Amino acid sequence: MKLPSYLSLFLLTSNAAPTSAFMTSLQGKSASSTKLRSTTSDENPIAVNPLVANVKVSATVQIFSNVKQMQAEGIEVTSLCVGEPDFPPPQAVLDAASKAILDCDTRYTAVTGTAPLRQAIADDLLNRKGVKYDANTEIVVGNGAKQSVYQGVLTTAGPGDAVIIPAPYWPSYPEMVALAGAESIILETQEKDGYLITPEALQKCLDDNKDKNITLMILCNPSNPTGGVHNKKRLEELAEVLAGHPKIAILADEIYERLVYNDSEEDKHVSFASISPEMYKRTMTINGFSKAYAMTGMRLGYMAAPKPLAKAATTIQSQLTSCAGSISQAAGVAALKNVEESEMEQNVQIMREKRDYVIGRLKDMPNVELAVPPTGAFYVLPDVSKFYEGDDTQLCLDLLEKKRLALVPGSSFGAPGTVRISYATSLEELEVAMNKLQEFLEECD
Ligand code: PMP
Repeated sequence: MKLPSYLSLFLLTSNAAPTSAFMTSLQGKSASSTKLRSTTSDENPIAVNPLVANVKVSATVQIFSNVKQMQAEGIEVTSLCVGEPDFPPPQAVLDAASKAILDCDTRYTAVTGTAPLRQAIADDLLNRKGVKYDANTEIVVGNGAKQSVYQGVLTTAGPGDAVIIPAPYWPSYPEMVALAGAESIILETQEKDGYLITPEALQKCLDDNKDKNITLMILCNPSNPTGGVHNKKRLEELAEVLAGHPKIAILADEIYERLVYNDSEEDKHVSFASISPEMYKRTMTINGFSKAYAMTGMRLGYMAAPKPLAKAATTIQSQLTSCAGSISQAAGVAALKNVEESEMEQNVQIMREKRDYVIGRLKDMPNVELAVPPTGAFYVLPDVSKFYEGDDTQLCLDLLEKKRLALVPGSSFGAPGTVRISYATSLEELEVAMNKLQEFLEECD
C-alpha cells in the first residue's frame, strides 16, 4: 500500500514499522524492544542504549511534524496541537537580543547564567511570588525549562528510586524519569475534580507505594495538558500530606504561572515553595520564558532551589550544555526588567477570551464533556470518550485525515478518551477549528 508522504513521515519520525507501530507509539505504549541490548538492525551491529531505545517520541512533536509535512505539500491544515503562544515576544526582548548580537555578546557565560539574569530572576521571584533565592547560588539558568526539569529529575531520582507523576501529565515527565533509570508512579486524578490532585488521592498513592523509595513528586501547576490550577488552599493540603514524607523532593513546574484566568485572591497562582519553610527546603521551582514571553525558540528557562539542589543541577549542566545561549540570556533580562506589567496583563486578557470562546463552543457540542473548565495555561482537555469507543488516537487520525484538523490524543498525556486542544492561536483560526471539530463529531453520530 502506498501511504501519503505525510503519513510516511509519521512512520519515519516514530522510528517504527508501518501503521500498527505508529498507532502503538501514539497510544503511549513503547514500540521498542524490551531486550536489554539489541542492535539497531541486522546489518548494523551498533546497539542503542536500552534507556534511550525505550524512550517514546513525543506525540505532539510527531503530529506537528506531520502537519508541517502536509502544509509543505500544499495541504491546508488547522493545527491546535502545539504549546506555543501565537503572539511575538515583547519589543523590549527583541531589542535586547539584537543589541546583544551587535555588541558581540557571544561568549560562554557562567554555567548558572549571567549575573544580571540570575539577579533579575531572583528579584522577580521575590517580588511576584514571595520566595527568596540567592542569585549567586540558588538560580540555575538552562536551555529552556525542559532542560531544567530534566536536571531536577536527575538531581533527585536514579535507579531504584520512584517518582510520583500526577496524570494527566506532560509527556516528557515519565520519559525523563525513565532516562534517569527511575520508576514512575502515576497518580490518577479525576475529571470531576478538574483533574486536580486531592490530598486523599495523594495520601492513598503514598500508602499504596510504601515499599518504594519515592524521592520526587512532580507538580505541574498550572497544568499542561488540563489547564487546571491548584490554588493556595489545595497546595497547603498537599503540603500537609507531604509533611509526613520528609524525604520526597517536589519539582514544581510553574512555567504557565503567568497564564491564570481567575483573578480572585483565593485562586491566584502561588508558588509551591512559598507554602511553608519546610516545603521551600524541598522544592525545585521551574519556570521559563517560552510561554509568558513567547520566547520558545530562544530556549531559556531556569530552576530556583535551595543551594544543595541547585548545586547538583549545576554540576549536571556543566557537563551537558555549559550554559544557556548568551543572546537569549540578554533577552531574558529585558523580559523581566523592561516589559511593562500592562503588556503582560493584556496577553492574559487575550488568552482568556480565546479560552472562553473554545469552552463556549465545546459546551455546544453534544456528547463532549468538560466537567470543570480550565483556569490556566492555554489548553483544554475535553472528554470525547463517547466517540470512537474512547479510541482518542483513531479519532485524531481521522480528524486530521478527513477535516485537516490536528489535535493531540489524550492517551499521550495519560488521559485516554480525551483530546488536547491548544488555544494559543488566533480567534479566526480557533473558529475554523471548532467548526471542523463540530462537523466531524456530528458526522460520527
Ligand atoms: N513544562 C511544561 C509543563 C511544558 O508544557 C513545557 C513546554 N511545552 C516545558 C516545561 C518546557 O518549556 P521550555 O523548554 O520551552 O522552556
